[in-house]
Amino acid sequence: MKSLQVLTPKRECIFNCPFCISKTHVHDNMFENNYENNYELWENNFIKILKNYEDLKTIVITGTNDPMQDICCIEKIIEIVREHRSDIKIELQTRYYIKNQIYKKLDIVAFSIDKFNVIKKIDTTDINARFVILLTDDFNQKSLYDIIDLINNKDVQITFKSLHYGENNNKISNWIKKHKIDSATLDKLRTEINNYRGILSIRIDENCMDSKGRYMVFREDGNLYLDFYSKDKEYINEQYEAYSNGKLQRIRRKSR
Ligand code: SF4
Repeated sequence: MKSLQVLTPKRECIFNCPFCISKTHVHDNMFENNYENNYELWENNFIKILKNYEDLKTIVITGTNDPMQDICCIEKIIEIVREHRSDIKIELQTRYYIKNQIYKKLDIVAFSIDKFNVIKKIDTTDINARFVILLTDDFNQKSLYDIIDLINNKDVQITFKSLHYGENNNKISNWIKKHKIDSATLDKLRTEINNYRGILSIRIDENCMDSKGRYMVFREDGNLYLDFYSKDKEYINEQYEAYSNGKLQRIRRKSR
């Protein structure tokens, strides 16, 4: 496992994005909040994962709401990772654009952006940032260079991302069908990204489903899951033993 997604406890999100993939999960994100109710178990399991999975390279702090609603939990995750695995990079995924001191403690802050005009409002001085540009119709007729012109920090990485339809929510799927970027702009962007030879790191991710199986998820109940869609609890030691002797690959193939 190269990457582990660590989720802050579920709350009602302060944002209400019409494309929110968290709302499409069939398990409805109903997991026990052991971060608050049984902190010792949560922390012990987290440390066990950090120690067991020696090939772990990145921790991604995310949530079923914006993780910045739980700054104390983010602080805790950073503290534990720095203490037990200082070699691991820590990323935060957020759409909280107001600068916060905690951003400086992270290796990368990945800002989700669904509106063109937001780009110029995000201050990335003193922090390592990635702009995850969600390909909505707000970017119709915009070129890669229109976007680059709005970024004043040339260390910012850019990932363009297609919206993901999710599992079971027609309202969200219908919204995406109506508001995804138009195909002419998308074709042009693909070409511009392929031909780009500047100093910014730019990529396009058009199939979020490909990421299934590339990472695991540590939820607020203190358990490890194969991905965001799994609802079956896997105890940390059993999961690690399966991983060590190759069974996990078989579980992954079965779960697809
Ligand atoms: S910020 Fe994230 S979790 Fe919250 S509504 Fe938007 S997409 Fe969903």
